Amino acid sequence: MDLILKNANVITMDTNNKRASAVATKWGKIFAVGKDSQIAPLAGSGTRIVDLGGKTVLPGFIDTHNHLSFYGYLVSSVDCRAVSGVERINDVTDRLRAQADKTPPGEWVMGWGYAHYHLKDNRPITREDLDRASVKHPILLIQVSGHAGVANSKALEVFGFAGETPDPPGGVIRRDPATNRPNGILEESALLNQLQAVFFQHFMAWPLEKRVHMIETAISHYNRRGITALHEAYVVPQALHLYQEMERLGRLNLRIYTMNIDYAAPALLDAGITFGYGTDMVRVGPIKMFMDGGMSNRTAAVSQPYRNSNETGIFLSTREDTFAKFERFHAAGYQIAIHAQGDAAIGAVLDAFENVLGRTSKNPLRHRIEHCGNITEKQIQRAADMNLLVSSQPMFLSHLGDGFLDAFGPERGHRLYPYRSFINHGIRLAGASDSPVAPADPLLGIRDAVMRLTGSGAEIGPEERLSVSEAVQLYTSEAAYFSFDENRAGTIEPGKYADFVVLDRDITAIPPREIADADIKMTIVGGRVVYEK
Ligand SMILES: [Zn+2]
Repeated sequence: MDLILKNANVITMDTNNKRASAVATKWGKIFAVGKDSQIAPLAGSGTRIVDLGGKTVLPGFIDTHNHLSFYGYLVSSVDCRAVSGVERINDVTDRLRAQADKTPPGEWVMGWGYAHYHLKDNRPITREDLDRASVKHPILLIQVSGHAGVANSKALEVFGFAGETPDPPGGVIRRDPATNRPNGILEESALLNQLQAVFFQHFMAWPLEKRVHMIETAISHYNRRGITALHEAYVVPQALHLYQEMERLGRLNLRIYTMNIDYAAPALLDAGITFGYGTDMVRVGPIKMFMDGGMSNRTAAVSQPYRNSNETGIFLSTREDTFAKFERFHAAGYQIAIHAQGDAAIGAVLDAFENVLGRTSKNPLRHRIEHCGNITEKQIQRAADMNLLVSSQPMFLSHLGDGFLDAFGPERGHRLYPYRSFINHGIRLAGASDSPVAPADPLLGIRDAVMRLTGSGAEIGPEERLSVSEAVQLYTSEAAYFSFDENRAGTIEPGKYADFVVLDRDITAIPPREIADADIKMTIVGGRVVYEK
């Protein structure tokens, strides 16, 4: 054996929810699970034996919607999050200026993580604020949600955004009402299209070692949270290449299932690369599409206006286009994963799925809806009839929940993310973080799926709470199903990947509010310890 964990509380998460005290691994897979006395004789001279002193072992956590490369890029940019000490717009400006002072003029300065509702100034950040940091560098500051941001004057000039520039489809260039000039605030596609371009020019031009190091750093953050696999929710060919390169170099410490962004999909299909192609570490997953925006910044496409407003959000793609793409990707044998948050967007997505699947279906490609926050009861039934899967982010409840209640009001707000209803209808549900939108911390997600409290402590739909064991499944056994890995991962059973997380306490036996305080002691991927405290 390569590794034996003994004297442990092993929660296997298998169908009988069996417990064990020891696990042996060989060649990256689980060889045996059982009592200490059963496993001990398997030890050989080269076996590493770890006495866990009663600590808890769970299957490694799987984050089914995570923007790894984007997170890596952002954490290497200027941190403007409230948790990092940013309280006022001046703090943001100071930090960006400090970065600009170290950067040659003309090169990009990127910041990330502010949320206007966390700033004491009680007004939006505009380009004038960023111009106070520098007018010689293009500056782009991304909101914590990733769906909106602010550009300084130099960046607007680089983008070619002026008074007469029309809003791009699915996006808004906010303007100063008096002069009609862009005030720097960019929403949805107006931001995202530019961000992609900047990301590629900036990040992809870096030497390979710098890019590998950046992703490695991001992965080390995730390993520290017990994550052993993730679904990368925005993969372009350059990122796929980088991940393959990292595997080749032996520097990839978690498994990546790629969600390939739709505009790059034709290249995959034309190259004859099929769904599921790859290795145990990097595998080609679904085609990723976007139907609408986010709920807390009111860009999710909803059927009734947001509270105190007449706005109903933004469609990022047309019905016709969605139907056509679904037909193409479904026929090509690819799983489809589509971002849909508002009920209007979800309705259009259900129509498009029904067009390729029929009304009742086995959904053999396991097509999935990402987020699925503002779904109606009728839509839940439709999704269940088609056997659609839902990947969702319980930690949005504590992280963005107050923003949701603000946008939807109490009555509609309580029906968001109806996890209990999904499970009662037989809909397969998996957990995710959408990192960097919320912290990639599955324990937070497990706690929030059970507690359903916002950051300020308000309840969101308490009748939709899950049990702790169901919440753990969202990040283990259920998550594995989403990538066709139910026979390879998600539970601690012989033959599966030796992917584990070791916790200082049994999260199924403590008050749920303490779940996120549990300490990750060790993370193991393929029998290799990738994090140890
Ligand atoms: Zn996402």
